[in-house]
Parts: sequence; structure tokens; C-alpha cells
Amino acid sequence: MFNQDDHSRTVIIAPLSGELVPLERVSDPVFSQKMVGDGIAIDPLDGVLRSPCDGKITQLHSASHAVTVQMMNGVEILMHIGLDTVSLKGQGFSPKVKEGDQVTTGTPLIEFDLDYLATNAKSALTLVVVTTTEKIDSLTQASGMVAAGQNPIFTFICKGGAETAPSASGERVASDAILVPNPAGLHARPAAVLANVARSYRSDIRLHRGENQANAKSVTSIMALDVRQGARVIVIAQGVDAAEAIAKLSGLLQQGLGDEGCKPAAAPASATKDEVAAAPTRPRQSDEPNLLFGVAASPGLGVGNIFQVRHGEIAVTENADNPDDERKLFSAAMERAKGQLGALQSQLQAGNDPAKAAIFAAHSELLEDPELVDIATSSIAKGKSAPFAWRSAFTLHAERLAGMPNQLLAQRANDLRDVGGRVLELLAGVERKKPVYPAEAVLIAEDLLPSDTASLDRQCIMGFCTTRGGATSHVAILARSLGIPALAGMEPRALDLPNGTPVILDGGGGTLRLNPSTAEIEHVRREQRAAEAKRQENLARAHEPAITLDGHRIEVVANIGGLRDAQQIEGLGGEGVGLLRTEFLFMERSSAPSEEEQFEAYKAIAQTVGPNRPLIIRTLDVGGDKALAYLPIPAEDNPFLGERGIRVGLDRPEVLRTQLRAILRASAFGKVMIMFPMIATLAELRDAKAILCEETARLGVPAVRIGIMVEIPATAVMAPQFAKEADFFSIGSNDLTQYTLAMDRGHPKLAPHVDGLNPAVLALIAQSVKGAHAGGKWVGVCGGIAADVHAVPILVGLGIDELSVSLPAIPAVKAQIRSLRLTVCQQIAQKALDCDTGAEVRAIVSKATE
Ligand code: PEP
Ligand code: MG
Repeated sequence: MFNQDDHSRTVIIAPLSGELVPLERVSDPVFSQKMVGDGIAIDPLDGVLRSPCDGKITQLHSASHAVTVQMMNGVEILMHIGLDTVSLKGQGFSPKVKEGDQVTTGTPLIEFDLDYLATNAKSALTLVVVTTTEKIDSLTQASGMVAAGQNPIFTFICKGGAETAPSASGERVASDAILVPNPAGLHARPAAVLANVARSYRSDIRLHRGENQANAKSVTSIMALDVRQGARVIVIAQGVDAAEAIAKLSGLLQQGLGDEGCKPAAAPASATKDEVAAAPTRPRQSDEPNLLFGVAASPGLGVGNIFQVRHGEIAVTENADNPDDERKLFSAAMERAKGQLGALQSQLQAGNDPAKAAIFAAHSELLEDPELVDIATSSIAKGKSAPFAWRSAFTLHAERLAGMPNQLLAQRANDLRDVGGRVLELLAGVERKKPVYPAEAVLIAEDLLPSDTASLDRQCIMGFCTTRGGATSHVAILARSLGIPALAGMEPRALDLPNGTPVILDGGGGTLRLNPSTAEIEHVRREQRAAEAKRQENLARAHEPAITLDGHRIEVVANIGGLRDAQQIEGLGGEGVGLLRTEFLFMERSSAPSEEEQFEAYKAIAQTVGPNRPLIIRTLDVGGDKALAYLPIPAEDNPFLGERGIRVGLDRPEVLRTQLRAILRASAFGKVMIMFPMIATLAELRDAKAILCEETARLGVPAVRIGIMVEIPATAVMAPQFAKEADFFSIGSNDLTQYTLAMDRGHPKLAPHVDGLNPAVLALIAQSVKGAHAGGKWVGVCGGIAADVHAVPILVGLGIDELSVSLPAIPAVKAQIRSLRLTVCQQIAQKALDCDTGAEVRAIVSKATE
């Protein structure tokens, strides 16, 4: 069909049947104020969006709710089904075309579920707009009811080349890199705001993401760039008003272009609750001159003397004569740095240290960041020396990251400084030397670099404190893996302490005590010696079963995160795995692990655990405080009450199915069981089981046992019902406590009150055990209280069958159980249930077991 009528007007035909609604009446200002373009809306009666003209598909949004057709004359028609439907993430939409396809009027473009939209979207009103308004004149809208593929909805006259050319001469100005804060990326609304403002400038303005770029004045071009939350973009303008345009547009982009749910990076004061939860616990300021506070980053006591660590600045010259030479120097340094990191990774993998290897793999990825490289190379092109250009690029990015309200991102700034410094040293010809520290040193630094930390010698470093970072920084993770006590986020006065000052560092308590008396030091050393002797004694008997004095056996198993942990189970007396937190396999990467990768990982763990010991694999438990960049969860007001645990898997069944298939295949190699996290309702359990059954049947493998995490009060209360449908329970006391007390487990102020021994939590545990046992099912505990000396007698007394604890705690928990008597534990448990507070519970346990 030709979309041209007798008067050279272009006719646009209804893509849907329904009632026409003028744009002005649409309840979304970007459409009603025609920021996206001019056109009309349709209140649809059917669920097949058809092409309103002949042309080519130039853009199909990844959420399948919007599509653009470009006509022969260059005019682009955007169709946007419903309002705010980007948040449906493709659910309810099924595209029938792909980008590049040629279509004619009436070709089905997207099928959608109108009922689903009616109940899940703000509105089903579908917008049909000309986005290239500069190419058209005098648009005339129709009105009333229209039939898809038959009636015109609007007409316009093409301008015929009268386009106003942008002013391309004049200065070229680039913005700093901007991390897009919009939860749903640059979808139609923010794209329209950006394009609308960009159009008010004469300069040519481009939005760059990696190697791709879009015309910032075109909504569809911006949408086609597929900019997701967290992506780095740069705006580049060339023309008479370039500087002005960049200043305005970068500010708008940083603030989310008016999108709901965006928190501008520069506004930490208005951080959302989840950001507060992810923030490091703000250190208290101590009033005592000899006591400093920090964030507990790695537990343990360290006695030693202060040694201040300072990183020397590398001097660089700013300008260079020959950009070609600088470019060569830069690529050679990048290649060498990648080589160094690759070698470091292989060394750590060979030494069976995948956690550390993953940190350096993440560093290698930072070097692949196209924006970072682009900024450096464009600066070299402007006559800067390679070391100067590179230093400016990575420090700028690091500062931006450090300013992010999300602390998980902010703490990656230190990684960028580390890897940036590595390349800079190569560029400047400075040799990286292994630092030498005095014996018994407690290091103090603004920040230690992960590569420095990984090589610390436990024999001579008693601990370290940094004034930056938090418990989730890579430095803290490395400290924990090395067993070095550490504090992060210290009071800044720590940096002024003279070298040699004697100190006691309490990595678990978050304190640094200065100038302790000889008696205090001796006391700590005595405690350390006694603890070490006890540890050795427990270890020597770790392989013996945990049987109470009156003959009641409790299974003591391990909480693990991967193969390396699995390899330690046997030596520490673990009787299997009560919780494999599979999320570690999904972290520190840019995409989800494939089925094959997961299968290999689970198989290796199953083979290590052995055929006769249980291996309980928990499906991916993210959301809340655990984020994955490639599995973004839209900003939520209450993330801990939002998409978490099994809800994420049910929302993205392909992720859950892939994981279940990998686990089922690995089940041939061990005594594998599957556990679903954060189950709140029977419907969730049934849905997850249905997927598992389908995959089991498809693979033709034997069924595996299925358990649930009891982490939500509703699940504990309904234990009798759940016991009919699950083979076992494992109580996640960390979450059960936060949900029972309605206190965020990571909240800086509330965390100390989130006590798993609160009698309310104990009552729910008792209820879970009763319900499970009545249904003939066993119950374990895999949250933190399973290894708490005050909790163990109560849990045994309440009838818990299995305790799943962190690896180092296994020998001590087994030793404690061997010292208990079941009948006494039952009495203690009854008394605990009648207590008023957690503190009272601890007191009665201490009294009864002393
Ligand atoms: C828990 O909530 O107690 C638990 C074991 O799960 P996680 O700590 O991994 O959330
Ligand atoms: Mg949990």
C-alpha cells in the first residue's frame, strides 16, 4: 500500500482497532506535551499491533513494548504499547518482526496480552507518534473508532528536505562519563526528555555508549542504543552552543531525566533504603583518645605496632609531541598489564584460589572498558602524553564510582585505582615492587590495593585498617580469605598515628585500641593462646560425630560458597554441605554462567563432597542486598520485601531452569538435594517444583529431594502445610530474624538489635520444627545462629536435626554438642521460649551450661 493520498499527504493507518484519543489527553507528560513527537493514541480493543505504513523496522525495544517503522521518506513512526510498560520487561509481549525487516501496512509487528496489560500496566493506551517531527508539516488527526489496517489515524505533509542542518562547525565538547541511573534504562520517556532538550541546541549532539552512538535529538535513535541502568554514556556536542548543551544534558542525564526511582549520583543525602543498607556501617566516632572505631571487615584480634602505608604519586608530563607514539605506548602498556593480570589469575587458579583469581579477572575486565579507553585515546589525540591521558581517565572514573550511593559500586573504585595504577606504572616505566613491612605490623592506609593485600604475609602482618572502603570491598574479602583481622571506614585520625604505636586491633568488634598496657597485651595474648589450644583440641576430634552425652546425634554440615570451601570440609570434620550458596558462581562476572559452566562447578563440588555425604544446593538467592549487574532488578522502595530469592527465579524462569538443569545433571555425581530460598507461599513452592519436575522429566534423570529455606514468618507458621510438599526445611535464621523483627539485617543502627535469640524468633523456629516433624520431615538451621554458642543448646533442645555452619566453626560446634545433654537442652529451650528478651535468653543459657 502507498501511504500517500491525492493531496500528497502521507496517511498513517490504524495499527490497532480501538478508540482514538488525542495525545493531549494522555496522562504522561512526555507524550501529552509531544516531547516524543506528534501523533495520536489508541485505546486498543485487540492485541495485535500492525504496521501503520510501509517501511523498515529500525528499532524494536528489548522489552518488546515499542517498535519504530521508518518510511521511505525517512519519517519515523514510533508505536509504544501502553504507558510505563517497559517495566513489564517483555512479559505479555511477543514480537513478530526484528530490526531491519521490511514491512507493509497491516503487517503484524507485536502481539500482546491485552488482559495482562489491563491488570499489570498503568494504561494500555497505545501511542503512535512521528518522532522525526522536523521532517513533517501540518499533522491532522482523525477521531472516533478505527479498525486496524483500515482507517487512517492521522495524515501529514512531508517537508521535502527543508530540514534545518545542525551547526556542525564550532567547538567539540565531550561530557564526563555518566553512569545512567534510570532503573529501566533510557526507555521512551527519558529518551524523549533528552531528545527534546537536545533539540533546543543548534550543535550536533551524539550520545555514545561504548562503540555505538545515537543522535541525541532522536528519541528512536536513543532508544535503539539500548542503554541500560548502570551503563556509561558520554555526550559529545559540536557546534556554536556545544559547551552549553553538554553542561545541560550531562546534568539531566545524571539526574535520571526526571524518571521515577532515579537517585542522582550526586545526591547521597537522599539515598534509598537499599542504598543505606548497602552502605558501610558508619563508624562511630570515639571520644576516647586511645580508642578508634571502624567497620568490622575481617574478624580476629591482632596485637602489633602501627605502620603507615602511603602510595607514592607517579610523576607524569602532561603534553607529548607525537600522538602516534603515545598511542603505541598506551596499547603496549595495556597489553602488558593484561598479560600480568592473566598470569596472576592462572597462578591463583593453579593454587586453588578462585575467589582471589576472580578479583583479578574483574580487574582485567576493567581494562576492556571501551569508554575508559576511548577517553584516554581521545585525550592522546588532543596532544596529551599517554601516562597523563590514562591517569586522567581512570582517576575520573574512579572518583565517579566512589561517589555512587550504592556502596557495592562505590567500592569498585579502589579496584579501578589498582588496575589503573598498574598500567600507569608500565607507562611511566616504574617498577612494581613487593612492599616490605616490619614484623608485627598493623598497617594503616587510606586504602590498600587488592593486589597489595593479596600478597600480605600473615606471619608479619597482624592486621590492617583503612579509612576508606567497607565490609564488602575486595580488600575486606581478601583479608577474610587470608585470615587477617581488618577494619575499614576508620576514623580519619588513624592516618596521623605515628609508626611504631603499639595497638590491639579487634576485627570483629570494630575497634583499634592504642597504647594498651602490658597487662592488656598479655591478656589478649593469653586469650589468643587459649583459643588456639582449644581450636587445636577441637580440630583433633573434628572427625568424631556430634553426639550429646545422652546419645542424641546432630548432623553438623558446612555452609560453602564453592569448590575451594568443599575441599576443606573433610579436614574440618564436616558431614556434608547444608548450604551451597550458588550466588558466588554468579558474582564478579558480566553475564550469567552457562548451564555447562554451572554443571562443571556443581559436579566438581559433588565429587569432592563424596557420594555418601549430603550436598544441598540452594538455587540462586539474589535481590535485597545481593545485586548482579547483568540481572538488574528495578529500583524498589523495599528491596528486602521485593524481588528476592525464589521470586527472582520465578520471574526469570530461564535463569532458574538453566541452574536446575545443571544441578540435576550434577546429581549423578553425589547425594545432591535442591533447596529453594525465600519461600513465602505454597504457590511459590509449587511453581518452583513444577519447573523442576519439567526439567527432571526432560533430562530423564532421577528426581532429587527438595527442601525450602524457612526465612519468612509465614512459612514457619505454615510449617505443617509446607511439610506435606517439601522433603526438608532449613531455617535461614539471618533472614527469619530480620523479617520477624522488621529490622534490616544490614542496617547501621538496627543491626545490633537483629538478634536471632529473640524469643519471637525462637518461637517461630519451634513452630517450624513441630510442623516438620509432624509431617515426618527433618529440619536444619543454616543461618548464623547455628554456630552461636548460646543458640546451639536451644536449637538442640527445640529438636533441630542438622546444623549447617561456616567451615571454621565446624570443629567447635561439634565439640560443644558433645558436651551437652539433650534433656538439659530441652529444659533450656522451654525456658528460652518464656524469656522477655534475647539478652535474657543468653543469660539463662550461660547459667545452665557454665
Ligand atoms: C539466612 O538467611 O539465614 C541464610 C542462611 O541465607 P543468606 O544469609 O544467604 O541470606
Ligand atoms: Mg537468607
